[in-house]
Amino acid sequence: MSKSICLGVIGGGQLGSLLCSAAKKLKIKTVVLSDSKEAPAQHFCDQFIYSKYDSNKKVQEFINKVDVVTYEFENIPVDFLNLIQKEKKVLPSPKINKIAQNRKLEKTFVNELGINTTDWVYIKSAEDIKKNQHLLPGILKSNTLGYDGKGQFVLNSLDDIKQDWCFTNDYILEKKVDLKKEISVVIARYADGTMTNYEPIENVHQNQILFKSKIPADINDKIFKKAISNAKKISEKFNYVGVLTVEYFITEKDELLVNELAPRFHNSGHLTIDAFNQSQFSLHVSCVCNLGSKPIGKISNAEMYNILGSEILEYRKKTFKKNEFFYDYLKKEPRQGRKMGHLTILKN
Ligand code: ADP
Ligand code: MG
Repeated sequence: MSKSICLGVIGGGQLGSLLCSAAKKLKIKTVVLSDSKEAPAQHFCDQFIYSKYDSNKKVQEFINKVDVVTYEFENIPVDFLNLIQKEKKVLPSPKINKIAQNRKLEKTFVNELGINTTDWVYIKSAEDIKKNQHLLPGILKSNTLGYDGKGQFVLNSLDDIKQDWCFTNDYILEKKVDLKKEISVVIARYADGTMTNYEPIENVHQNQILFKSKIPADINDKIFKKAISNAKKISEKFNYVGVLTVEYFITEKDELLVNELAPRFHNSGHLTIDAFNQSQFSLHVSCVCNLGSKPIGKISNAEMYNILGSEILEYRKKTFKKNEFFYDYLKKEPRQGRKMGHLTILKN
């Protein structure tokens, strides 16, 4: 009998948790490495290792235990991934991670493929913003380490530049788009280059945090096809292995712009757990553990709602209908705005 594969997962949030649950169904063992003692994925994995992301005994124990390593979020220091890569394969490749965790590199990569993004410029000082006033009203985004709208500032005019901003970090300034809609494409690429994708998912944000996702997305056929073909182009160019998500803006003028790339499964793809024959998480495990491909089959239309902060307390008491699927991430503290769980409703 062949030895079962052991998948190492760096990061222990809800994405890591859902990945571990999917791996378990595929009979793949999981070891989660997290720098947070309270990481919720410890309730879902086979083994949990709490350690800083640097070279130490705990990390070596992690490396020794696993056959292949993946990660649940892109903001892991690339040097750390490279360190692991010396001993065990890291998928998707740390080279991709380096691009996806840096908005300047990411947008440059996308633009060089001939794919449109918002108009943007790299910013190192207040002076740089003054030179690029044509991008106002705009959004100043920290070049690295942003998520759920963190590190973003709306600039309607130069007056919004705060005197005490000292630009110790670098930024990009992006023109504010008249948004008609946001969509995402979750695509998977196997080691042999085979690709498979879900249909585009429509996303609604509130306060820059995903509020709701649904399929089918209410978009025209041209945008449907273009969103998928761009995602294929991007994963091909990366020589990608695993699940990749492309977030898009659709403008009032029906232009399709790439907003950002996530080198991983995505919050908007949570509905794939119940609406398809295989979820984005099980697809990712299949790709990185080289389990072979299986066609994606749709079961149902669906809507997914994020459950934030103390809302979870109500949900924990609720009873659900047959077409409603509630996921509790088992996070200890229901802080305001924190993603605590989600609900998927299957629709006809
Ligand atoms: P994060 O890394 O925090 O997800 P995003 O760049 O995806 O950052 O921004 C979060 C949300 O903020 C987007 O999904 C969108 O709703 C809104 N947003 C971001 N940039 C723009 C823009 N240039 N124009 C209009 N809305 C934007
Ligand atoms: Mg985003």
